[in-house]
Amino acid sequence: MSNVRFRALDATNGRIPVKITPPSVKVSDYFATNVFTKEAMFKFLPKNAFNAVMSAIETGEKIDRKIAGEIAHGMKEWAISKGATHYTHWFQPLTGATAEKHDSFFDISNDNSFEHFSGSSLVQQEPDASSFPSGGIRNTFEARGYTAWDPGSPAFIIESPNGRTLCIPTIYVSYTGETLDYKAPLLKALHTLNEVAVPVAQYFDKDITRVSTTLGIEQEYFLVDTSLFYARPDLAITGRTVFGHSPAKGQQLEDHYFGSIPDRVNAFMNDFEIEAYKLGIPLKTRHNEVAPCQFECAPIFEEINLAVDHNQLLMDLMDKVARRHHFKVLFHEKPYAGINGSGKHNNWSMVTNTGKNLLSPGGNPKSNLMFLTFFINTIKAVHEHADLLRASIASAANDHRLGANEAPPAIMSVFLGAQLSSILDNIEKKVGSSKMSVEDKTALKLNIGKIPEILLDNTDRNRTSPFAFTGNKFEFRAVGSSANCSNSMAILNTIVADQLRKFRKEVDALIKKNVKKDEAILRVLRQYIVETKSIRFEGNGYSEEWVKEAKKRGLSNHQTTPVALDAMISKKSLKLFEDNHIFTHREAEARHEIMLETYIKKIEIESRVIGDLAQNHIIPAAFRYQNFLAETVDNLKDCDLKAETYSTQLQLIKEISAHVNAIKKNVDAMLASRDKGNKIADIRDKAIFYCDKVKVFFTTIREHVDALEMIIDDEIWPMVKYRELVTIR
Ligand code: ADP
Ligand code: MG
Repeated sequence: MSNVRFRALDATNGRIPVKITPPSVKVSDYFATNVFTKEAMFKFLPKNAFNAVMSAIETGEKIDRKIAGEIAHGMKEWAISKGATHYTHWFQPLTGATAEKHDSFFDISNDNSFEHFSGSSLVQQEPDASSFPSGGIRNTFEARGYTAWDPGSPAFIIESPNGRTLCIPTIYVSYTGETLDYKAPLLKALHTLNEVAVPVAQYFDKDITRVSTTLGIEQEYFLVDTSLFYARPDLAITGRTVFGHSPAKGQQLEDHYFGSIPDRVNAFMNDFEIEAYKLGIPLKTRHNEVAPCQFECAPIFEEINLAVDHNQLLMDLMDKVARRHHFKVLFHEKPYAGINGSGKHNNWSMVTNTGKNLLSPGGNPKSNLMFLTFFINTIKAVHEHADLLRASIASAANDHRLGANEAPPAIMSVFLGAQLSSILDNIEKKVGSSKMSVEDKTALKLNIGKIPEILLDNTDRNRTSPFAFTGNKFEFRAVGSSANCSNSMAILNTIVADQLRKFRKEVDALIKKNVKKDEAILRVLRQYIVETKSIRFEGNGYSEEWVKEAKKRGLSNHQTTPVALDAMISKKSLKLFEDNHIFTHREAEARHEIMLETYIKKIEIESRVIGDLAQNHIIPAAFRYQNFLAETVDNLKDCDLKAETYSTQLQLIKEISAHVNAIKKNVDAMLASRDKGNKIADIRDKAIFYCDKVKVFFTTIREHVDALEMIIDDEIWPMVKYRELVTIR
């Protein structure tokens, strides 16, 4: 039993849970100890510098360069007191991973050596980062891009066995000022949303001077033993298995969901939670997910920019900590065919400086009208820009998951719940363009006043909707598990901001015509309720009927990334981006190009892996078994036995040949198709070609490989099997 598979399986025997010792029993004793928190700043910064950072965080005010020097000094002193020797700007280029380039605090001048960190090093850096994707904005001759400090997300210290590094969250822009990362568009969207949401909120409460967004990210992931992971080149290279017959027992019994967590996994969870707490990431829940070896963790929600940074950091941490436990974390949206994939539910809401959650119904009609305003405008925004929202979650990996009877479909719809649906229906019926009677108004207001009581009923949930209202927030469930949430969240905040601006214009126009404010608001909301009906869906989003029904309603259903991405650069979207100062045309087009390029590369890599594994691993194993069968037949023939004695062997020999021939034929055809695709100049055409004319071979090749897995002697089969991958020892 010398094959890689059995050596890997042997290695997983005798794994024991790693013993974890937290720094203290109470998390509050060590929470955020590696973060340059408000308290740490207060201690290490002079008063004026502290105040400058605070107002930058609270009101987005710019920090004076002179003061930046004082902040840098204090930050360095704090970092050194924590044992840091290096610093780095920490940013999120469009590769999807986070990036860092470390510099030492150590410096020499006038024959003196000392530890130094200047204001300019804090505020801006120029990483020679010519190979980050830029969609043609920044050619490599002019390889200058800048990272610029984001004071809204606090600096933190990353510990590794051999040292500590101060990390400073930054945005990343090109020399000419175009954004090249995930963070900058999100910050721009938040800025715009605040600008337009405040005056709308002030219809109801003049004390509101700031609106920000909150986000709680539920992160799903799979765990697999490192030895098994590396014995599967497809997993190691592409993050998913391209072959593998379904195990006899998968998730049919649903016994894994919320089941007891295996000890080794529990140790891993404890370990990364401790590391996360030190970095101020407020993890709250952990549990088994539906699929075997699938898990989820979720933090307490935070301000959105911080929540996204924390999620990116968390994925890094989980990956690092997993090594200590001989685990590999799979963030891929669909590591295993036939088994549920992973998502990243984005729980999103808006909150005011007065502490009011704008998507939480209040105790009286007035605050409920405010709730309905933000609630209905969000629905309207999704209705107007459903295609763009779909584009914001598009990726080669997420294509496997969306609409696969386990994840929301690629059709964007909104779930409200029975109670809110009826309240909206009520408004539609009662608010006319003619003046309402006093009685009607009272009835309506009373109904609005009843909302909170009704919403306490938590059973009114729909887990099949991509965009579901869950009592005091919307949950965008279609985001992929490996995604940087900035992408979809920048879009969501932008479309809501754009919508609120239009809403205000319409309401103000009515007020100018002497319509009372509340009535003006209700009238516009009523009109939105009528206009957005097609996007509301309360039924089963996984069903075939919904696909048909959605088509009748005229909703888009873009199944694949290359086509879904069109919405990034549609006329409507380009105008939206420009009106809200998110992307210039050039930036949007560059981003679109990068996404298409990434898509093509991913499919190309998968195609190579499939070709390689099929020809160098699978076919040789098939021949070995076939040869064994042929020899058996020969031997039996020598014994002068009747032909029926070896008829099964003969039958298997024929079946193996048929599958092997089909594999070879399809791999050859796939390679030829790829060659053809690589000659296409237009990037969108090329991506569509890869989707329709290269990816199609994956399924056919897989069917034959998986059929062989069922025929060939288990002792010979070279690839770790599904039943082995999804079992934790
Ligand atoms: P589930 O959807 O599984 O029932 P929860 O209700 O616990 O889970 O919430 C899931 C996530 O939503 C958590 O991260 C939680 O902190 C977050 N959340 C709760 N309220 C808000 C809010 N107002 N804004 C953003 N996220 C929120
Ligand atoms: Mg949830």
